[in-house]
Amino acid sequence: MQVTLRNEFHGREVQVEIMGRYPYTLTAAQAAKVRRVLCGRRGCACGVVRGRATDVHGVQVAVCPDGLDDGRGTWTIDRA
Ligand SMILES: [Zn+2]
Repeated sequence: MQVTLRNEFHGREVQVEIMGRYPYTLTAAQAAKVRRVLCGRRGCACGVVRGRATDVHGVQVAVCPDGLDDGRGTWTIDRA
């Protein structure tokens, strides 16, 4: 299942693949892609994920900031 995350501050969006069931925590590689596509600016305070996140059917999903063991941030996607 693909979901679309948005950053309304920069006017960008990115698709990520949910591999498995909700709640699903983005892998480090997926989180890096989300950061790169939605913001990509060092020191920016936009928060990266801002705005509606939706699945392929347009249904809103919840996006919660989460941590990885190595200290870098990721996100957990869940049903809204
Ligand atoms: Zn930014």
